[in-house]
Amino acid sequence: MTDREPSQRLEGPDWRSRANCCGTNAVYFFAPSHFERKPEKDLREAQARALCAACPVRGECLSYALRAGESHGIWGGMNELQRARLRRRVSV
Ligand code: SF4
Repeated sequence: MTDREPSQRLEGPDWRSRANCCGTNAVYFFAPSHFERKPEKDLREAQARALCAACPVRGECLSYALRAGESHGIWGGMNELQRARLRRRVSV
């Protein structure tokens, strides 16, 4: 089991294979290596969220990100700040 990805251990073997963000769309989900201005970030994240909105595994994805403490990128339609706020609300 140690050779399997964390997502496979937490949520089952195949949710990522049904994700809308496979392939070239993945570029929208994480900040680029160069400095990104806020308007660029907002546009990139909006494009990612549009894909998440129609994603058949959105719930599994967000659940994984919250459990794993993913601190970067868009997961389940939420960026890192939104997930942190959700974690705080749930843990109160
Ligand atoms: S919810 Fe968004 S980030 Fe998660 S698998 Fe689907 S498209 Fe990718």
